[in-house]
Amino acid sequence: MSHTILQKIRNKMGESDIDSLIISHTPNIRYLTGFSGDFGYVIISQKQALFYTNSLYVEEARNVVDEVFEVIELQDDIYKSFSELDASALGKRIGFESDKTTFTSYTKLKNTLSEFELLPQNNIIEGFREIKSSHEIEYIKHAQAISEKVYTRVLSMVKDGVEECDLAIEIDYLFRRSGGERSAFNTIVASGPNTSKPHAVGGRRKISPGDLVLFDMGTVVNGYASDMTRTVVFGKASREQKKVYNAVLNAQLAAIEGIHSGVKCADVDNIARKSIISEGYGDKFVHSLGHGVGLEVHENPVLSKKSEGFLQNNVVVTVEPGIYISGWGGVRIEDMIVVKDNRCENLTNISKTLVEL
Ligand code: ZN
Ligand code: ZN
Repeated sequence: MSHTILQKIRNKMGESDIDSLIISHTPNIRYLTGFSGDFGYVIISQKQALFYTNSLYVEEARNVVDEVFEVIELQDDIYKSFSELDASALGKRIGFESDKTTFTSYTKLKNTLSEFELLPQNNIIEGFREIKSSHEIEYIKHAQAISEKVYTRVLSMVKDGVEECDLAIEIDYLFRRSGGERSAFNTIVASGPNTSKPHAVGGRRKISPGDLVLFDMGTVVNGYASDMTRTVVFGKASREQKKVYNAVLNAQLAAIEGIHSGVKCADVDNIARKSIISEGYGDKFVHSLGHGVGLEVHENPVLSKKSEGFLQNNVVVTVEPGIYISGWGGVRIEDMIVVKDNRCENLTNISKTLVEL
């Protein structure tokens, strides 16, 4: 992180009428400092930028934490340290991430900082995280390249009688073997009627001829996630399978076509939704169209009917419409897209022509 970003955060804090900000959400801490451990706190005031961790992590922290932060090893619990902070440097009004703070932590914070005004502040750091640097986009691309290699290999393992979880385990294993840090989320391999459950994870169902098989998978490189879904048919696709697949694909292509900087997130969702409604499956598209991807696999912005924001240059979002018919099955197709000025760039390079294995 540079002094410039720190200054921008301080400006944003000023606009939000807070003097200091306590950051406890791990991905936000990683974004600001480069520290990837599980335990850390950041406090930014107009005068100070402090990073706290305990003895387990302090050595790593001294090596990796960005130089704009002063690294402090906690001797006691974090609340004790907060109470010893220089009150004149902190100011009066302290923001904290209320969405990420447990009731217990909040109570301790309130007792420790009883002289100050504690103000819930969310999305200050998340707002900066939405827009990716070229490095961040490279990490996401790298993660996606690994995922594509693994997907191609695992497709060749789909055989009559193979269980969904055998394929899911293989994907998780191959991610690690191919340079991914871990799976970005619980890998989904669903087959037959299980494909109608949007978040079915790999169970013990055996794949058999005529099944739809859905893969939703992603890995992590340098902390950055990838996310992709493909749905294939094991055997020859039926007429209805082709019809549903094409309805999802057309909605996805139309939505991607509509992405550029300045477009309203809700409008992009609406393009896909209208397309699926016109095919007669309006009530079967039961989730929002997509989400931001970065240090978290689901982050801002959200592409949904209710979104109020606009897409900005260098934001990475998924576009993942689906049709889910209970008892029959479902189809979802998901690509990751980088928003550009008058266009967008698709980071997903796996073909979307219906695969019949
Ligand atoms: Zn996904
Ligand atoms: Zn997704």
